Order: sequence, then structure tokens, then C-alpha cells
Amino acid sequence: MLVHMKALLLSEYGRLEIVDLPMPRPAPDEVLVRVEACGICGSDVHGFDGTSGRRIPPIVMGHEAAGRVAAVGTAVQGLREGEPVTFDSTIYCGQCDYCRRGDINLCERREVLGVSTPEYRRNGAFAEYVTVPARVVHPLPANLPFPEAAMVEPLSVAVHAVSLAQVPQNATALVVGAGMIGMLVLQVLRDAGCQTIFVVDIDDSRLELAKRFGATHTLNPKTGDAAAEIQHLTGHKGVDIALEAVGSTPTVHLAVASVTKGGTVVLIGNIAPSVEIPLQAIVTRQIRLQGSAASAGEYPRAIELLSRGAVDVKPLISMIAPLSEGPKWFERLHARQANLMKVILTPGAQA
Ligand SMILES: [Zn+2]
Ligand SMILES: [Zn+2]
Repeated sequence: MLVHMKALLLSEYGRLEIVDLPMPRPAPDEVLVRVEACGICGSDVHGFDGTSGRRIPPIVMGHEAAGRVAAVGTAVQGLREGEPVTFDSTIYCGQCDYCRRGDINLCERREVLGVSTPEYRRNGAFAEYVTVPARVVHPLPANLPFPEAAMVEPLSVAVHAVSLAQVPQNATALVVGAGMIGMLVLQVLRDAGCQTIFVVDIDDSRLELAKRFGATHTLNPKTGDAAAEIQHLTGHKGVDIALEAVGSTPTVHLAVASVTKGGTVVLIGNIAPSVEIPLQAIVTRQIRLQGSAASAGEYPRAIELLSRGAVDVKPLISMIAPLSEGPKWFERLHARQANLMKVILTPGAQA
């Protein structure tokens, strides 16, 4: 039986190293997963340099992962060794009022995999093995490659946000920000039947990719007034729904200025802790502002969207690299190397 495993440890801010850690053992209600793929999230990069404050070293990060069941706890039923699985990044208790009504993302005892705060520390999936409660584990279809399955986590975030938007029939929509979540939201909106989808970003190469994913109009606010253009192209009505995947004052303003009266703005991005909002426009035009946090039960749907090909994540994966190259790829992501979207590490391929 293995005693140690390789893990990518954030030992101090700005310092990642490959170390041997004790092999985790599953508790009675837990599953031990051999990690085959784990994506580097933007939040991990902000954790790496300490700006998020939610990756207090020492911590093994990583919450966008897929792998195979290596062992199950004594009380676990319905999962067997060798089965391909992914798992929710939200570790919810399953017992509080929020959990019981299905809002597991709002759980009172919520923990996030690969996150450490003053309240808790939970090692994540940038390691050969990770343990997670069986209740957050979702089996994968055999046809889904592990690196794509590692994208189920961010995809579930997009599916959750779109479900909160309550997409009307033949809707017109706006996606602000063509980063990872924006690109996934775009594809989910297209699958939900949106006829017209505007995508706004300041990076033309991302806008090109957004067109491939089904954006009907792309706009770069660096070269024109995006809100005015959207109003013009919708006959001065505005879009039915806007999904904001950045989280800054100008982008929130753009979303509000682009929706129709009575429309909905779903707020997903939050790079700034607080933004200024155009209060009168929101009140007098009766706009609904809807926050969206992580996901709550959208994993099966995200897996289904991927396996049926309704959402294509392959063009979003820039690099698949062994765990040993993790420190290098974190440096490159931190330096904002151009044209780098998702980098996926493959810890299970090490041994
Ligand atoms: Zn993430
Ligand atoms: Zn709970």
C-alpha cells in the first residue's frame, strides 16, 4: 500500500513545489480519487500570489478535477473502484437548511476543495490522490476524456448562472467578458435557444473564439461604444438578459445599460470586491440584479452538455502538462502570458 503521494504544495505565497505528502485515507463517507486531470483556475492564480486571501499556505490547491475511484470508505455505496468520476468543488454538509432546500452552494458549513481560510483547510486535487465526500462525486460517461471532464466544474458555474437568468423564449443575450466562464456561459446560452448573443471583451482573439462558439455579435469596448452598439442592434430595446463575467464598475454598467426594461443582469464575476451601480437606471427600468455563486446541483447537466457535444471545451484547453510542470505554468498564468486559457495538470500520469 502506498504511503506517500506527489503533490503540488503552495508552501508560501509565490512558491509552489512538488513534495511527498502522506497518502490520504478515505473516511467512512469519503472516496479516494486518483486524480487524472486538474485545471488551474484563475482563483488558484490569485491564491498563489496571496491576493485572494483564500489560499493560506501550506495548501494543495486544485478544485477542477476528474479521475478514477481508487478506494471507497466503508459506508460508501454506489461507487466502485476504477470508475471515472468528477466531483463538486463545493463540499457541503447536506444537513443545514440551505442544503435541505437544494441550495448546496449556500451551505452554512460550506468548504471549497483546495482552499484554506482562517476557518478551514481542505487539500485539493493538484496531487496524485485526493479524498472527497461521496455525496459530491459524480460518475462520468466512458467517452469523456479526463482533461475535458475537469472542465465540468467551471461549466457547472456557467449552467447555474444561465439557470438563474430564466432565459425567455428566443431570447437576446449579452455576455460581458470572454474569459473561461464567459465562453462557457455563451455555449450554454446557445444550447438554451438564445437567438442573438452579444459578447463583449477587450481582447480581439477571445472575441474571435467567441464567434466560433456561437456569438452572433462581438464588440470590443476599446474600439467603440459597446452599449450604444447593442442598443442600436436591438432596435433600442436592449437584450433580455445580460451575464456579467468580469466584476468591475464599467462592465456592470455596460450590462445594466444593455438590458431591456424589466430585464435581468446575472452577476458572476467579482474581481473587485465592490462596484458602483447605476441606481436610477436599475430602479426606474426595473432591472433585476441576480448574483450567482458556484453551482447547486448542475453537475449532471454539465456532464450531459459535454458528453453530447453541446458544449465544446477543447478550444479552451491551452495546455495539458504533468504535475511536475505545475510551478512553471502557474508562473506563466501569473505573468498573464498571451493566449493562455485553461492549463490542465495530469497528476495521475506521474507514476
Ligand atoms: Zn475554479
Ligand atoms: Zn449545508
